[in-house]
Amino acid sequence: MTQIIFLGPPGAGKGTQAARIAEQENIPHISTGNILRSHVAEATDLGIQAKSYMDRGDLVPDQLILDMVRQRLAEDDAQTGWILDGFPRNIAQADFVQGLLQQQITVVGATLPGNDLLVINLEVPDEILVQRLLARGRQDDNEETIRRRLQVYREQTAPLIQFYQDQKQLVSVDGDASMDVVTDKLLDVIASTKVP
Ligand code: AMP
Repeated sequence: MTQIIFLGPPGAGKGTQAARIAEQENIPHISTGNILRSHVAEATDLGIQAKSYMDRGDLVPDQLILDMVRQRLAEDDAQTGWILDGFPRNIAQADFVQGLLQQQITVVGATLPGNDLLVINLEVPDEILVQRLLARGRQDDNEETIRRRLQVYREQTAPLIQFYQDQKQLVSVDGDASMDVVTDKLLDVIASTKVP
């Protein structure tokens, strides 16, 4: 069971790297941002409710996100592992993940709580993040929204670094290198944390 959370600021390369790792490890890449964007594109109830938050660079309320994630993780392909990209993004969401893992332990009878979870913190300096985001040109990649997303990251998401450090589940990886170099480092980290 490979369960990986990708932490890191917007523009750190989480999406690109998570997709590569997912393919290598043969587990689904679950990006809450991608799921939300497809809801917006299809104008579902969730998409309509989420859009204004996304356009501003704010977090979509937990109440909408948690159900969405619960459903996605209940699908067949997620039963042997997953990579979460862009989730959790605040302490309440991290508590939700802990709850899910706890349930798994009760059901499957695994060993230590949260034992299987690996949290990768992709580190990239701020000035590089802004350059990367501006170059990407997604709808929410304008300067004002980028500033807000970085602020939201610092206020709400960055505290998760300490949260997972305290649980001894965090590994930091330097994301300020070429894509291939970062992918190789990530694969090394994942291989070295696997119990034989
Ligand atoms: P991302 O593609 O991860 O950068 O997400 C794009 C936008 O979707 C974010 O700026 C948020 O508005 C929203 N979003 C994505 N994931 C979450 C989440 N876990 N919690 C709340 N909002 C989210």
